Amino acid sequence: MNNNPVVEEDVQPYRGRFAPSPTGPLHAGSLTSALASFLDARSLKGIWRLRIDDIDPPRAAKGSVEAIRSALISHGLIWDEPVLYQSWASECYERALRQLSEKGWLFRCICTRTHLTARGTCGQACADQNISSDLPHSLRVKVDRRRLTGFEDRFLGMQTAARADVSEDFIVKRRDGLYAYQLAAAVDDAQPHFTHIVRGADLLTSTHRQRWLQDLLALVSPSYGHVPLVFDRQGHKLSKQTGAPALNVHAPEDNLRASLNHLDQVTPPTTARTVAEILEHAIAHW
Ligand SMILES: [Zn+2]
Repeated sequence: MNNNPVVEEDVQPYRGRFAPSPTGPLHAGSLTSALASFLDARSLKGIWRLRIDDIDPPRAAKGSVEAIRSALISHGLIWDEPVLYQSWASECYERALRQLSEKGWLFRCICTRTHLTARGTCGQACADQNISSDLPHSLRVKVDRRRLTGFEDRFLGMQTAARADVSEDFIVKRRDGLYAYQLAAAVDDAQPHFTHIVRGADLLTSTHRQRWLQDLLALVSPSYGHVPLVFDRQGHKLSKQTGAPALNVHAPEDNLRASLNHLDQVTPPTTARTVAEILEHAIAHW
């Protein structure tokens, strides 16, 4: 008889997510990111959620939330629990900003685009000037590069924050009053909301910034894994900005096979004809 049962409550259950911005329909690149995070969560018996990162209303495209949801459903990528919306979490972002400000990490910046260096940083030049809150300003967080730590990417191995990756400051609240992506993602992706983040490799430098914010906010960083990006024939990353075409939702099986191929996964046999059969094979071989 075993008198020392394993206390399973101590183990943080897997919680992953796909977090698109509602700036347009899914394309082959975003489907590949969604599929990777879905397969990772399902293969580890985890929870997989859908979070709509709608903190930038000027960039939102009408109807895209519905288009994203129905494209995910037609590809069998069914999320658990209700959909989350970042626009509901303003209070959390405001609290995070207060915390950063109280610890002396924030400063007001009045630099316009022409004043900024090519790297988009003001080099903390505004920090010493104690800019009046009456002037139009953004809020930046200081970065102490000596305190940055690397992390073990689940797919790419050890990642250290090179000087070029993280500038000495970055924006956490924009001049137009909107919360910056880095702040919202850092707060929402931290544990216990999420334990595992799987996303495209274009976000690697953002991960260093978000981990920096999580460190300052005393949040527990999730584990990160970055998957290869999908490029078009001209070598551009597929994105809504570069006008990537929307997925043909009438050919989900072909789209899934193409994404699996891109992720360097075992090709499902030709006998796997339906979306469910393809996904079942993919989960088993992830
Ligand atoms: Zn500045």
